[in-house]
Amino acid sequence: MSVKADLGILPTAQAYFAAQIPVVVVGGGACGLTAALAARDGGADTLLLEADPVPQGTTAMSQGAICAAGTKDQARLGIDDTPELFYADVMAKTEGRTDPELVRFVTKAAGPAVDWLTERHDIPFSVDTSWKGLGHSRQRLHGPPERTGSDLSGRLVRAVEKAGVDILCSARAVGLFADAEGRVTGVRIARPDGTHEDIGCGALVLGTCGFAANPEMVAENIPGMAGVATYTWENACGDGIRWGAQLGGATADMTAFQGYGSLAVPQQMLFNYNFIIDGGVMVNRNGVRFSDELADISGQGLYVHRQPDHLAYMIWDATLQDRYKHVHETKQALSLNAIKFADTVEDLARALDLPPAALAATLAEVREVKEGRKADPFGRSFAGAHQLSPPYAGIRVTGALFHTQGGLVVNHDAQVRRGDGTLLPNLFAGGGTARGMSGPTMSGYIPASGICMAITLGRLGGAAAAKVAAR
Ligand SMILES: Cc1cc2nc3c(=O)[nH]c(=O)nc-3n(C[C@H](O)[C@H](O)[C@H](O)COP(=O)(O)OP(=O)(O)OC[C@H]3O[C@@H](n4cnc5c(N)ncnc54)[C@H](O)[C@@H]3O)c2cc1C
Repeated sequence: MSVKADLGILPTAQAYFAAQIPVVVVGGGACGLTAALAARDGGADTLLLEADPVPQGTTAMSQGAICAAGTKDQARLGIDDTPELFYADVMAKTEGRTDPELVRFVTKAAGPAVDWLTERHDIPFSVDTSWKGLGHSRQRLHGPPERTGSDLSGRLVRAVEKAGVDILCSARAVGLFADAEGRVTGVRIARPDGTHEDIGCGALVLGTCGFAANPEMVAENIPGMAGVATYTWENACGDGIRWGAQLGGATADMTAFQGYGSLAVPQQMLFNYNFIIDGGVMVNRNGVRFSDELADISGQGLYVHRQPDHLAYMIWDATLQDRYKHVHETKQALSLNAIKFADTVEDLARALDLPPAALAATLAEVREVKEGRKADPFGRSFAGAHQLSPPYAGIRVTGALFHTQGGLVVNHDAQVRRGDGTLLPNLFAGGGTARGMSGPTMSGYIPASGICMAITLGRLGGAAAAKVAAR
């Protein structure tokens, strides 16, 4: 992990700059790629550094969904959405425990960022109408055509190449050079053959993601998730957050994270939650439910982790299976034989190795709740939910840490703030490297805001970095 090769902040006097580039971006995920596009649009020669042989990151693992309000595709579909509604939804989801200034400018800039990527950079986003609720009062999840993170990542990389940005892969940043005022003067990179190179810059954008893959940072900031399974990009080691902090940048909400409870076991793939949203339920090894599955899908991973053997089972039926058979994760799970099908509850229980009587009793109770004859013991509202009926389907899952939400505090230009509110002169951050909109807990994450923060802050930071570098 890069954490082992971290040289931290080095004095400029130790640098041997092989090149001087106006804007350098570290990290080739959605944040870094979008920042590079915006810096290039702003007229700056731009270099993107990526540790891996190909830019992918957590972005390529994701479902590629981005929340944004007031986009042209929403207007085309007649969805009356505004940044104000988006703002209100985020404040409600976080129970007001997030930074209102951050939420205000991100919810305002997200829609224009999506339209800009579509119109100027040929990435045709459209509203994914299969997503509803979970904190969003309007349908505002946008995705690329294939609705996958790898599609999004590939399209961003092609756009960056077309825009004339140089991408240097297999180039891991291992430290930053800075002067006494905290002005970044360059980056030291390590190459796979063990050699180092120093590259000077006028402004730096950090898009290295959060710290979900760094066990020490997880144990320090989110002790409740220490030792829980991790499903994330291996370079999400918190490099950018640590360097920004070492330069005097403030950090916030370091306790926040997203931990889905739907990682298929043993296939180790993210499974589709639509089955649950539309009326499916989750049970543990004893065949009983243990939560309101929709109350806190961002934190559901921790609830699943607390179950016997850290396992849970998602249960739905043939109607829902048919409704979501086209979704990438469903197809992937089918190809891996991860989904078990059965004509009766008892046969499903046997296929999943669950106690048949307990599972039958659970599903009978859920039926009563959906019919309005009984209150849900976990307080879940099943309003409008599909009534499950045979044949049934199910999958075994566990909970995992997917990505962290805390990071560097930034202003409306994605420029990093010090603890006293002043700005570091030429340092910008976005995506998982910056503080997200989720507030301090696992429950505040509103769906699809991870990539929203990446492309929105990436665009703002790249554009502002180009201006700073030109001065
Ligand atoms: C399974 C899964 C599904 C998800 N689905 C969604 C979704 O549908 N919608 C959503 O909004 N969010 C989703 N998320 C979260 C989302 O993927 C992240 O919030 C987002 O991709 C972060 O983008 P980023 O650019 O900050 O980081 P990344 O995409 O991780 O990019 C960071 C890049 O920096 C590189 N890097 C790191 N350190 C260095 C270094 N020292 N030197 C050089 N390069 C370095 C990495 O290799 C990587 O390529 C999901 C996450 C997971 C794990």
